[in-house]
Amino acid sequence: MIQLIRGFKDILPEETPLWRHIERTATALFEDFGFREIRVPIMEKTDLFARSIGEETDIVEKEMYTFPDRKGDLITLRPEATASIVRSFVQHKLYAQKPVHKLYTIGPMFRRERPQKGRYRQFYQIDAEIFGDGSPYEDAQLIFMLVTLLERLSVTDTSAHINSLGCPACRPDFKAGLQAFLADKGQVLCEDCLRRRENNPLRVLDCKVPACRDAVADAPDLLDYLCDDCRNHFDTVQRALADLGVPFEVDKRLVRGLDYYTRTAFEIQTGALGAQSAVAGGGRYDGLVRALGGPDQPASGFAIGFDRLAEIVAMVQNDLQRPPALFVAALGEACRAAAFDWVCRLAVAGVNAEMSTTERSLKSQMKQAHRLGAPRVLIFGDDEMARGEAMLRDMATKEQQALPLEGIVETLQTILMAK
Ligand code: AMP
Repeated sequence: MIQLIRGFKDILPEETPLWRHIERTATALFEDFGFREIRVPIMEKTDLFARSIGEETDIVEKEMYTFPDRKGDLITLRPEATASIVRSFVQHKLYAQKPVHKLYTIGPMFRRERPQKGRYRQFYQIDAEIFGDGSPYEDAQLIFMLVTLLERLSVTDTSAHINSLGCPACRPDFKAGLQAFLADKGQVLCEDCLRRRENNPLRVLDCKVPACRDAVADAPDLLDYLCDDCRNHFDTVQRALADLGVPFEVDKRLVRGLDYYTRTAFEIQTGALGAQSAVAGGGRYDGLVRALGGPDQPASGFAIGFDRLAEIVAMVQNDLQRPPALFVAALGEACRAAAFDWVCRLAVAGVNAEMSTTERSLKSQMKQAHRLGAPRVLIFGDDEMARGEAMLRDMATKEQQALPLEGIVETLQTILMAK
């Protein structure tokens, strides 16, 4: 038998109601905050990701699914959505339509990471981006929206971690300071960090290798290097969050994996998932629109790990399965034909009824109804047909009620939709 690809997974029918519930909750909330949906392709030219995410990142260095198409052009399965949304924003000149755009998208992403619980090679993200507004209030609003979403989904064990990564005016000083600090750490840093030390030293700060973590314990603090503008920006984000009653923690080790962040970076962590604690991450990326050929437009956004969120929500919410409203237990071909007609007409009217399409004993059909969780069974055999009625049985109270065949679909509709 052919199995699915390692690190990929199926979302089975018993899980999809939960996924839909999350999707609906997120989109309703985002729309109330003025976001509109955008859908972008899952493949792009490799250059788009190399240029936006950054050559020196784990994603671009070792995790992208990149291959030549039949003409030899390099294309990549998207590892994240921001780059594509920015590409689309620039390509369609959305910035010319109105000053601020708030966009969201939901879909699969692909990264060839080492699979483990909470980490997949095809995973899903819920993504929100704001273009055209450089205000710290937008950063605070994104974090507030995220925390509100988690609350609406009854996820409580969460904390917002925030940091500022500075801007092109102040980050070079910090980079130099950090590089000086790391200069004599050659013996202890992992191979990746030795490379990062030269090109992307900030990434050394969030390396997960214990020796690297120890090595940077006393590293200079980025917040000490912020210019006045970045400092004011970060202060306002914190004040706005406090005013909104959002608990947060300043986490100076939070640098995020992608190159394009400026100023605010944030992550929502949860204790519910063990090692893979980040359920969402994001921040400001004021230089990216320009870097991808657009005008100088500020931007900020976040991505929620849908798979991880679904795993958490599944622990607190397990009543989303929808059993059929009715099971029709028909006996004999003539009754089955009538039952088939009723089941189809009920479906059109918005009522899910199930039946057995093959001849089975009443006992076996009652068992099937029970297994499906149908609260009512309509029993219809030759005797009932002769009397011009069918018997509706309530599975909980065991009460039975005879319904005339005349207009039975409408009668059932009224009864089943009333509860
Ligand atoms: P990132 O795009 O790396 O900032 O990730 C944003 C969120 O996506 C993370 O906080 C995770 O919840 C989720 N995520 C990232 N990579 C994976 C993966 N390989 N499998 C499942 N979820 C992931």
